[in-house]
Amino acid sequence: MQDFDLVVVGAGIVGTASALWARKRGLSVLLCDPNPPGSGTSFGNACTLATYAVMPVNNPSILRNLPKLMFGSDSPLSVDYLHAMRNPLWMLSFLANCRPARADHIARQLADIMGHADAGLNPLIAEAGAEDLIHNRGQLSVWSTRAAAEGDRAGLEFRKAQGIPFREIGPAEALALEPGLKQPIHSAVHYHAARSIEDPQELITRMHRRFLALGGQWKQAAVTETRAYTGGVEVTCGEDRIDAAHVVITAGAHSKSVRGSGAEHLPLGTERGYHLIFGGEKHRVTRPVGWAEGGFYAVPMAQGLRLAGTVEIASLRKRVNQGRLAYIARKGAEMLGPLPEPTSHWLGYRPTMPDSLPVIGRAPHSDRIIHAFGHQHLGLTLGGITGRIVADLAEGRQPNLPIAGFAPDRRYA
Ligand SMILES: Cc1cc2nc3c(=O)[nH]c(=O)nc-3n(C[C@H](O)[C@H](O)[C@H](O)COP(=O)(O)OP(=O)(O)OC[C@H]3O[C@@H](n4cnc5c(N)ncnc54)[C@H](O)[C@@H]3O)c2cc1C
Repeated sequence: MQDFDLVVVGAGIVGTASALWARKRGLSVLLCDPNPPGSGTSFGNACTLATYAVMPVNNPSILRNLPKLMFGSDSPLSVDYLHAMRNPLWMLSFLANCRPARADHIARQLADIMGHADAGLNPLIAEAGAEDLIHNRGQLSVWSTRAAAEGDRAGLEFRKAQGIPFREIGPAEALALEPGLKQPIHSAVHYHAARSIEDPQELITRMHRRFLALGGQWKQAAVTETRAYTGGVEVTCGEDRIDAAHVVITAGAHSKSVRGSGAEHLPLGTERGYHLIFGGEKHRVTRPVGWAEGGFYAVPMAQGLRLAGTVEIASLRKRVNQGRLAYIARKGAEMLGPLPEPTSHWLGYRPTMPDSLPVIGRAPHSDRIIHAFGHQHLGLTLGGITGRIVADLAEGRQPNLPIAGFAPDRRYA
């Protein structure tokens, strides 16, 4: 008799959603994490359930604008060249995925799973009694220049073809929605069906609490190794050896650290992102506002105004880059007018595969090990549906959406 039906490795949004879905289905579940639930990358994001965000970060416009993005003094992208030279295959594969045919394939895969995002998350929000954390004012995307707006035109057409609801508006209407904006506005899009979360960690904490109330087990320790055998898997968590029918690796950008899981052989990288919080400044915007040229969102949330975003290609171990924080502070003032000193700052690690698609599926070497990581910019949005797929796989059921495109052993470029 095994100790658990499922051991979940990592209590971010993806792991906590997996644990809660599996427990709701009646599986015996142990959730392991050395840190409090929702304290990793799921803590500091831009709080947006971005069901419209089906265009991958690596797309043809990146190739067109690469010199400006990489070498411009005022760029939302920053690359640590030493790290890039140490990881040439990941970098080349990431760029290869910017080709139009690959970008189109990736966007279609994202659109397919995105269509199920709300169905995966809403039952967990209800289960956790967290409806009060969810806001329905949509998301506003703003472009300051015609060139940038035209660069994103193909993405809007793709969304339209996918039936994603939005309204294209001019500067006057954008300002009527968000009078606090100060940057030049060429055009804007209001994704009126998008939602946001007042406090992502609070949502995950409530999901975790509900998981425990339903009889789920929690162990605050790291998983270091998994050893699959026919019919099960042995999981080393802290000092304990646990015997389970299945294990799921949901350790986000740290998933390669679990020996024997198969994740260590996959091209998992990280896109580092930052946020600044300005306590008491929540009133500056009334919904998440993304500024295309700035590469970040301004979000009203429980702790105040959060400016979150930018991409830094660098290792998990590199220290906080103060230049990135200064960039967000400077651009934040351009966007919203003078801001006081931030009350806190944060660095997080988006788990990113070179094709910007998550890994969701059984490990190639064992059907007892499930992989569920690599959600890059969209983990908050896709965590719920990923958790439901994990529960399906742990139960031996076929998920009700195609997941072959997310297989760990797919072609990555
Ligand atoms: C600036 C920024 C803005 C973003 N904005 C959005 C947004 O608006 N909308 C959206 O959908 N997404 C957004 N994202 C992306 C989203 O935050 C991530 O995709 C998501 O949080 C990843 O969740 P996760 O559960 O995979 O990882 P994490 O939240 O990082 O959780 C992984 C957990 O695994 C644990 N762990 C690590 N190693 C081990 C181990 N060996 N054993 C056990 N546990 C372990 C860690 O302690 C951690 O708790 C943003 C990201 C950033 C950086």
